[in-house]
Amino acid sequence: MEGVEDKLFLCALCPNMCRFSCPVEEVAGTETSSPQGKALTSLLLLRGELPWTEENARPPYLCLDCQACKLFCPFDFDLPSLFHPVRVKAASKIHPPEVHSRLLRMREKGNPFGEPREKRVVGKGEVAYLPGCTAEMKEREVLLSTLRLLEGAGVGAVLLEGYCCGLPSFRAGDEKRAEELRGEVEGVLRSLGVGILLLSCPGCLEFLSGLEGIEVFHTSTFFLKLVEEGKMGLPRLSGRVTYHDPCSLGRKRGIFDPPRKLLKELGLEVVEPLKTRERAVCCGGGNPLEEARGVSRKRAKELAETAELTVTTCPTCKWALGREGLRVLDLSQVLEGRLG
Ligand code: SF4
Ligand code: SF4
Repeated sequence: MEGVEDKLFLCALCPNMCRFSCPVEEVAGTETSSPQGKALTSLLLLRGELPWTEENARPPYLCLDCQACKLFCPFDFDLPSLFHPVRVKAASKIHPPEVHSRLLRMREKGNPFGEPREKRVVGKGEVAYLPGCTAEMKEREVLLSTLRLLEGAGVGAVLLEGYCCGLPSFRAGDEKRAEELRGEVEGVLRSLGVGILLLSCPGCLEFLSGLEGIEVFHTSTFFLKLVEEGKMGLPRLSGRVTYHDPCSLGRKRGIFDPPRKLLKELGLEVVEPLKTRERAVCCGGGNPLEEARGVSRKRAKELAETAELTVTTCPTCKWALGREGLRVLDLSQVLEGRLG
């Protein structure tokens, strides 16, 4: 904790040099939602110099884990990892009501939407496909397109339904539940003996990478590989689209080019939004706080002004931006020839 407190202390003394990059502060417009303000509140809570109240526990959660500020930080601080210990304490003490609902849903139903679902393992093959909660429960077309593309390319796949990687619990500060959920995914993969795990969700990619002996792919890189190996054919399309980089795929893992390459191979013109690639703005979809909804609205507007259709590579981005009225498709749907 000492290292974390030292870094939070330096950040609390900083003149907020990265503040212009924080999408939450841009929308909320308050000092406590700025990177430095969140760091100061987090530090005081950890030191016991600020009482644990619902209001005081809000700033550490006013972070989308997007890492946009890291690009501009002279100390290269990863603020989400510095807020994490505060969230762990808050999860067992006091936290904003939206976080409370998230924690309960994850504990009781094992997914961030709180809807009932059963675990199912469907099919046979050398690849395990985990769509993740949003593709399974809110954006099922992404799951279905992915399965059809795999079948068309002759890839035998086992579909894992009802499994959550655990990231929503981790981000809310519930490490125990996160580990349980991740452990369930690992357990089913080991029992199936598969060597490849395919994911639609960049958040799952962030949380499940590093499983020993299992190669983990996001659909964008996997499909590009299949095309380059001549195993997957592409339809011919024409038109103009823009591409939204999910934080967990782009900024955090450097996967910027594979989706763009596939879109261009399809024959599409890709127009970049004003803030793109490393500087792309978060969709806000992974955070349950009301302020995150404002971030979604703003990003959706920016994308709508760029092109009539947005393509992304994350079911949660698709869900969050589509909820704000944006015309948005997942890359898997476009690879099937859909443009609407
Ligand atoms: S993250 Fe870095 S640049 Fe931003 S306020 Fe903290 S120390 Fe300053
Ligand atoms: S990680 Fe993103 S949301 Fe969090 S403080 Fe940095 S820029 Fe703001």
